[in-house]
Amino acid sequence: MARYTGSVCRLCRREGVKLYLKGERCYTDKCAIDRRAYAPGQHGAASARKKVSEYGTQLREKQKARRVYGVLEKQFRGYYEEASRRKGITGETLLQILESRLDNVVYRLGFAASRPEARQLVKHGHFLVNGKRVDIPSFLTNVGDVISFAEKSLESPRVKELVEAAESKAAVTWLERDLNTKSARIVRVPARDEIDVPVAEQMIVELYSR
Ligand code: SF4
Repeated sequence: MARYTGSVCRLCRREGVKLYLKGERCYTDKCAIDRRAYAPGQHGAASARKKVSEYGTQLREKQKARRVYGVLEKQFRGYYEEASRRKGITGETLLQILESRLDNVVYRLGFAASRPEARQLVKHGHFLVNGKRVDIPSFLTNVGDVISFAEKSLESPRVKELVEAAESKAAVTWLERDLNTKSARIVRVPARDEIDVPVAEQMIVELYSR
């Protein structure tokens, strides 16, 4: 299946919550969900009044998670299967796997304005993991890994802008960021209450367990 290339604001409006896919714009009054808080399309406004089945609710939670992290269905199911093989609460483990994706880590470090931008920066080879260039956004990082910018990338005007902006943003507590060296280390796996995504992960587990 091809990656979605349409308006990302439609995705937020479809899910009925801000998914923060557009960076700075999401924090301004230009945010589409603030202006039109109903699903997109001809029958969008009417669909808010429809009763949603249990399956429908579970499906929406899964779609929401996929859209937050920018993951296609097949890969998402793979993450679910991996989470169900690991010890612990499957839903929470699923979110922890998603959080460990390199594009998400870059976003969490404040080195990109949104996950889609982080994905693009990774694809363009701007990041190193433990000193080696990694250009795969879905690369799964581990505790102890060190993420840094490729030396040449620090000359890019956009990277300079992002690093400057990162100074005013706190990185999440499970990542140790050093703005002097423009690098960071993953200190631990985040707990559920440190993952601020608006997703009821248990419903995703129920959906896939049907
Ligand atoms: Fe979603 Fe951001 Fe668009 Fe608002 S501006 S609808 S939060 S992507």
